Amino acid sequence: MSTSTLQRELSELLGERVVFDAPMSRHTSLRVGGPVEALVTPADRPALAALLALCKRRGWPHLVAGSGFNLLVRDGGLDGVAIKLSAFRALERRAGPRVAAEAGVSHASLTGLCTKSGLAGLEFGAGIPGTIGGWVAMNAGIGPREVKDVVESVELQVPGEDAPRTLDAADLDFRYRELHGTAPGSVIVGAVFRVEQSTPEAVQAEVDALLAQRAGSQPLDAPSCGSVFKNPPGDFAGRLIETVGLKGTRVGGAEISPTHANFIVNRGGATAADVLGLIETARERVAREAGVELETEVRIVGRNEA
Ligand SMILES: Cc1cc2nc3c(=O)[nH]c(=O)nc-3n(C[C@H](O)[C@H](O)[C@H](O)COP(=O)(O)OP(=O)(O)OC[C@H]3O[C@@H](n4cnc5c(N)ncnc54)[C@H](O)[C@@H]3O)c2cc1C
Repeated sequence: MSTSTLQRELSELLGERVVFDAPMSRHTSLRVGGPVEALVTPADRPALAALLALCKRRGWPHLVAGSGFNLLVRDGGLDGVAIKLSAFRALERRAGPRVAAEAGVSHASLTGLCTKSGLAGLEFGAGIPGTIGGWVAMNAGIGPREVKDVVESVELQVPGEDAPRTLDAADLDFRYRELHGTAPGSVIVGAVFRVEQSTPEAVQAEVDALLAQRAGSQPLDAPSCGSVFKNPPGDFAGRLIETVGLKGTRVGGAEISPTHANFIVNRGGATAADVLGLIETARERVAREAGVELETEVRIVGRNEA
């Protein structure tokens, strides 16, 4: 791909809303990873549609970087375009009752609105950091509760189409920490969630209990990407990694958390290669000693350093 073509055409389309060679370590919670060729923040739906059409026409890869709480970018960086939806911040109560949120709304804001308004049903997401786009794309959740249980519809921009379309959640294929059934390269623009009228006090109590539970069991004092691996059927990845004796293992600046073995934390100066080294060690040891193949939950993207 010719970088000069990419730079010229994206600058023409987006003006000030594009930055070239942007370090993804600033846009991911693990604070590791090389630069992306272009980081763009489209101003609105037409600008997003035009951007995706251009990427499609030119064959430039793109991905959405929500808040990067579940994204690990390799040290060689990313080809193409990373899209930030920070301009998509509308959040409102609707009749029904329902709550509608654009993709760039932080999950904490959604929880805040529900708490203030006494709307119940989304409390399970309290303490899951990130954006609504990332929440839906990851079918985020905890225990048996996940996004698919509460989402009614999803607004999607499909590359090459003029404007977003709204899909019933029932027509989408939500799986464990994955969303399928959307056209390749689609961008989630927003979603509508079903809630129930309750009271601010009841919702707040539920949120507080969940946050306290997390604070006691997760290493929230150091950069991480949350759970690195999916839980295998009937077991917990953290338990397996702990059982094979890897808690506290370090590679460079990365460490398998002594608090929760399914978290890898950046103790300072870690590289993506350090984190990937630990991921491979955990995968290999758990396969060899426990006979279980762990699958990553964190989305790993980009090139290894040349
Ligand atoms: C301390 C900690 C605790 C966590 N606890 C949990 C938990 O309990 N349960 C849980 O499920 N997760 C948990 N996570 C992981 C993370 O918070 C969730 O996956 C969250 O939904 C990610 O949102 P994000 O905006 O940061 O997405 P990102 O990490 O930026 O992106 C994740 C993936 O979604 C895609 N994506 C993001 N936005 C869009 C969009 N608008 N359109 C299309 N694709 C998009 C990205 O391209 C990427 O593939 C935790 C993370 C941390 C750091």
